[in-house]
Amino acid sequence: MSIISVASGSSCWRGLEYYKSQKIKNIKKINNNEYTSIVLGNKDYNVYLNLEHPRKSTCNCPLANGKRIICKHIVATYFSAVPNSAKIFEEEQKKLQQEYEEYEKRQYQNAIKHLQKMSKKELIKELVYIFNYAPEWIYTDFVKKYDIEG
Ligand SMILES: [Zn+2]
Repeated sequence: MSIISVASGSSCWRGLEYYKSQKIKNIKKINNNEYTSIVLGNKDYNVYLNLEHPRKSTCNCPLANGKRIICKHIVATYFSAVPNSAKIFEEEQKKLQQEYEEYEKRQYQNAIKHLQKMSKKELIKELVYIFNYAPEWIYTDFVKKYDIEG
C-alpha cells in the first residue's frame, strides 16, 4: 500500500502543490524506506515518512499530530523522496479523470436511448418526479416556456 492510496484526495493535491513550490527542506534518507524532512507551511513541520508502512508516517502539523493521518506535508515529502512519483500521480489522475468523463458520456447516451423507448405514460411519471425533486426553477421554467397559467 502506498502513501497515495492511504491519503485523502485533498492531501494528495495539496501535497503536490507543496512539492511543486519546493516547500520540502532538509530531506534526509534514513534507509530505503524511511525519510525525514522539514516542510514549510504556516510553521515548519517535521515529517517522518515510512514507505513500507505508510500509516507509521508522522507530521507534527495540527491535522496529523498524534493521529494516523497522512497530511499534505507527508505526501509532499513522499513526492520529494521517490523519483517520478509526482509525475506518476498526475498521469494516473489524468487517466482516471478521462475514464470518468467517458463513463459519464456513455451513461448519458444510454439514458437518452432509454428515454426514446419509454411510453408517454412513463415519461409523464418521470417528469412529475423531476418536478417534485429538482430545483424549483426547472418547474418555473417549464411553466413559463409553455405559457401555463394557474
Ligand atoms: Zn502535516
